[in-house]
Amino acid sequence: RPKVVVMGRSNVGKSTFVKAVTGENVRVGKKPGVTLKITEYDMGTYLLVDLPGFGYMEGIEKKAQEKIKDQIIKYVEDNKSTIATSILILDAKALIEIIDRWDQKGEIPIDLEMADFLEELSLNPIFVINKMDKIKNSEWDAHLDRVSEKLGFLPPWRQWLDILVPAILRDNYGIDGIKHRINRHIQAFKKLKS
Ligand code: GDP
Repeated sequence: RPKVVVMGRSNVGKSTFVKAVTGENVRVGKKPGVTLKITEYDMGTYLLVDLPGFGYMEGIEKKAQEKIKDQIIKYVEDNKSTIATSILILDAKALIEIIDRWDQKGEIPIDLEMADFLEELSLNPIFVINKMDKIKNSEWDAHLDRVSEKLGFLPPWRQWLDILVPAILRDNYGIDGIKHRINRHIQAFKKLKS
């Protein structure tokens, strides 16, 4: 069965997303570091795979962070041929702050590393720009253009509606659009494999 993998930095709203899509009682706002395991949910036409949250987590050493990242990369590489689409959840506001901070150090944050990784493997990524409630309505377009540019997509961001999805997952805003995109990828994947 085709797989849909879900990933994101710790605290971006990944559990909220998984809960909204699966309807299962996933723990939201849990203590970071709890989800080291990979959970697969049977969605009928596909398997939704909840990968561990990555990046900085309070009380977790750098070495452990690296281990989680390696585990995610290994899972994705090992399952590449069965992954129909991949979902990377990003925090709209924190993403820009993190990128700018790391830029000054001449480094690339893990969010961008993961985004590049999914594109390089041609895993049909969908980038969910979550927590848009933290951005003033009048600034949505400008902010999304900035995010788009950081991810390597030439603004205006609306050119990339298949790939970039603004969301307020806490309020279920954006969920239907993401589900729709997932289903399209599942259909295309099935056609390709038949
Ligand atoms: P995870 O660590 O990525 O699994 O993130 P969770 O789903 O546990 O969410 C982390 C925190 O972000 C929780 O307190 C959520 O209520 C909150 N959260 C999730 N989605 C949104 C959103 O769209 N807007 C805001 N402001 N908070 C959100």
